[in-house]
Amino acid sequence: MQHQSVRCLIKDFEKRPSVTHLLEHPFIRQAHGKDMALQKQLADLIQKQQQSGSIAKTRYERIHTRRPYHADVASSFCIDDDLVNLEILEEDTIIHQLQIRYADLQIYTYVGDILIALNPFQNLSIYSPQFSKLYHGMKRCVNPPHIFASADAAYQGMVTFSKDQCIIISGESGAGKTESAHLIVQHLTFLGKANNRALREKILQVNPLVEAFGNACTVINDNSSRFGKYLEMMFSPTGAVMGAKISEYLLEKSRVIKQAVGEKNFHIFYYIYAGLYHQKKLSDYRLSEKMPPRYIDNETGKVMQDIVTKETYRKQFEAIQHCFRIIGFTDEEVHSVYKILAGILNTGNIEFTAKSSQHQTDKSDVPDAESLENAAGLLSIGSEELQEALISHCVVTRGETIIRTNTVDKAADVRDAMSKALYGRLFSWIVNRINTLLQPDKNICNTESQMNVGILDIFGFENFKRNSFEQLCINIANEQIQFYFNQHIFALEQMEYQNEGIDAALVEYEDNRPLLDTFLQKPMGLLSLLDEESRFPQATDQTLVDKFEDNLRCKYFWRPKRVELCFGIQHYAGKVLYDAYGFLEKNRDTLPADIMVVLRTSENKLLQHLFSSPLTKTGNLAQSRARITAASRSLPPQLGTGRIKVDTMEMMRHPEETTNMKRQTVASYFRYSLMDLLSKMVVGQPHFVRCIKPNDDRESMKFSRDRVLVQLRYTGILETVHIRQQGYSHRILFQEFIKRYYYLAFKAHENPPATKESCIAILERARLNKWVIGKTKVFLKYYHIEQLNLLLREV
Ligand code: ATP
Ligand code: MG
Repeated sequence: MQHQSVRCLIKDFEKRPSVTHLLEHPFIRQAHGKDMALQKQLADLIQKQQQSGSIAKTRYERIHTRRPYHADVASSFCIDDDLVNLEILEEDTIIHQLQIRYADLQIYTYVGDILIALNPFQNLSIYSPQFSKLYHGMKRCVNPPHIFASADAAYQGMVTFSKDQCIIISGESGAGKTESAHLIVQHLTFLGKANNRALREKILQVNPLVEAFGNACTVINDNSSRFGKYLEMMFSPTGAVMGAKISEYLLEKSRVIKQAVGEKNFHIFYYIYAGLYHQKKLSDYRLSEKMPPRYIDNETGKVMQDIVTKETYRKQFEAIQHCFRIIGFTDEEVHSVYKILAGILNTGNIEFTAKSSQHQTDKSDVPDAESLENAAGLLSIGSEELQEALISHCVVTRGETIIRTNTVDKAADVRDAMSKALYGRLFSWIVNRINTLLQPDKNICNTESQMNVGILDIFGFENFKRNSFEQLCINIANEQIQFYFNQHIFALEQMEYQNEGIDAALVEYEDNRPLLDTFLQKPMGLLSLLDEESRFPQATDQTLVDKFEDNLRCKYFWRPKRVELCFGIQHYAGKVLYDAYGFLEKNRDTLPADIMVVLRTSENKLLQHLFSSPLTKTGNLAQSRARITAASRSLPPQLGTGRIKVDTMEMMRHPEETTNMKRQTVASYFRYSLMDLLSKMVVGQPHFVRCIKPNDDRESMKFSRDRVLVQLRYTGILETVHIRQQGYSHRILFQEFIKRYYYLAFKAHENPPATKESCIAILERARLNKWVIGKTKVFLKYYHIEQLNLLLREV
């Protein structure tokens, strides 16, 4: 449809603001579903008319039911919005539905209360504030499935039941998790409208800022998350947004010093380089366009060319400056951050050469002092001390301190370890600073009455040509999230049917628990074996793989013949071959004590802070340990009693880790982080968003059946459709049920006992179908909750 026609239609509508007229308009009838401009204009128009009162409420409601962002507004409500409504539940039918919907740009589909999101690989105009309004507090069946509807359900759940919620977004790399997380924050910010506009603005800047430091371009995704992020948005009891808090997990620090072919360093390095270049401030930060930093331009010089010529990086730099300002970082802090980043880039350019002397042959030297001095200057440390700490180290033997020289390779390793430590600590500091700046004002809302919605967006499952330690950690994290999903959707549900004597068919699903045990159990799990081997100075990556082979005797592990350092894992999402080269070093992640000492002497206050306090995380560590210990002892409130208690802890495989964790290696810290994350998640009511990548070429409108099928299979979507169709996703204790829905059947002065009969009275009064009653709980279908809540609002 031509814009001309749209304008004509709008004029016509403005003259005659009747929805019927609009629906019957020839332009609308002819319009094709992919006309984004039209869809947006229509949505705006309807909104405008509704606000001005031109459309009576019933009509407005009617147009909602006509699929508001679909130009074919005359089409009726679609039952295939929810796969649970399909009569034939087979892979073929499911995939066919998704394909048809995708061709129609209906990227969202429900499976009961779970949302499937197919990556559109193009900008859609369905995320404007008008759409937030359309989805605000609406019945789910009224509008087409949407990420805003999931965010809305979480928000309504929080406000109605004063219960924390968490939205778990999963999917492989490039599937759209981070984009979905942004949209959820956008909608929640819209819903949690406080008068405090500044706070809203701040919250919206959090993701872009953290992602500039934690995301990077990989061969799969140009904006790939290289860390896990759990963003909690805090609300007052009335639902006004009060603040936010981020927890970050396992940043892929090794990217700072080296990137695989076709990949890049963290975005921020390119942004500042381009920004400073355009502001003619490169020299202020001892950077030069003539000598491109090795860490960001180690291949062809093309990156440097892009930095200098392309506008995008410069614009991103401005955007990041804006984020810093809005969130509340001081100019001094931002300047210090840039100095440290530039210091890292200069550190990367320090080269070493072998230097032979009479007594020692394995000495190294720094032939060109420029980068060394630049790095030292930017980090406000002495260049001589820095050099000393790079090319030598001290060993204490039998009470004597001996200075040993470093080989060229060793010196380069120390240099890179320093860069990684600098970046890792800087990243943690930025996150902590954001948390301080965004913490709720205690004078307005005390901590006890706060509620929150947490949004989990981690790095997606990865399978590259060469997979290293980082991929192993990323994939284990995804394995754990899948386990959590399985526990929630299948295991707990089915166990409750049995406990409560409910006759519901059991659904078989792929349980990844044995694989997770292969990784996490002690003392023979893969991570423990890795830690054990990391403690032996003589161990090599080869002995590590041999150790794995000797001890991991299960069908999930194999070792390909003739490939020395390789081992394979059959993950829930597919087979991955890992190359163990560098595993031990990466796991040890040691920062030589001498470097630490030198950095501590910095005159830069921020740097002093990063290295003098026992890591920024440690403060959090104590808190989260306490939280985990509490979680291990007490039952998350929403999950009932008895056996469930044990199984809730089961979701956090090996919770005992959390209490005696020592943060010595990356593996042990990683294990701790996973438990910390899960301990946060299990206390909230979960909502799941499953992102699916429709093709590997990042092309819009391209639906590869095979690729989608693989993802549907390994995420257990088919089984999920079955259990949502047959099962009862909400299981509420009689007492709780009566407390919530009392008013639907009883008068204020009545005091019904917490019995089956009282619950039945409510259910019958509400005229629900297909519910069942167990020994202690009411079992409801996912759609019943919405129906009950709507009735409650009408009372
Ligand atoms: P990773 O695990 O690598 O972090 P991810 O699942 O977070 O991957 P995203 O970065 O969210 O993936 O998405 C990859 C790209 O797909 C985005 O940069 C964007 O171009 C596109 N995309 C994803 N979702 C949407 C959407 N709803 N609308 C438009 N484009 C999208
Ligand atoms: Mg991401």
